[in-house]
Amino acid sequence: MKINLLNLHEGVNRFNLCIDPDKLGIDDNKDALLLFDDKIDADVEIQKFSDKYFIKVGLSTKSHLTCDRCLAEYNQNFRGDFKLIYSKQAVSQSDDDEFRFLDEKVVEIDLRNDIRENLLLMIPMKRLCKEDCLGLCATCGANLNLETCHCKSATIDARWEKLKNLKL
Ligand SMILES: [Zn+2]
Ligand SMILES: [Zn+2]
Repeated sequence: MKINLLNLHEGVNRFNLCIDPDKLGIDDNKDALLLFDDKIDADVEIQKFSDKYFIKVGLSTKSHLTCDRCLAEYNQNFRGDFKLIYSKQAVSQSDDDEFRFLDEKVVEIDLRNDIRENLLLMIPMKRLCKEDCLGLCATCGANLNLETCHCKSATIDARWEKLKNLKL
């Protein structure tokens, strides 16, 4: 994931990285590592204007997740991108670009940390096999996507009973 700046020509440079999740350095976060069971595809575009480098990275991968509600396993595709500017002098930038000063002696940029961080951001906080997943019945454990049980109506009845008692 290291880019040798000396190999870049003026203007647009494009290349593709196929990243092994094991190489991302998320070994300390086993849960996160397990999510990326497939190679990560990174499309890198670097525009070089003398000593300024405008970097755009598009990431895509798929992951094997467990639904928070019904515990079913499912696959999900992830996409994300990020932009960086490396420069030896200050440049004007838009809000979504991250600017970094490039030291005079630096000839190499390592994208590993940025790729790792952006991948981790792509993981949804809430993992659902589908938007309207009905989950498991808290009482009998039935997967409500697949079957209907009778616990729900019973619980609601019980709640009404309690409410009635409160009013009295
Ligand atoms: Zn589900
Ligand atoms: Zn039930």
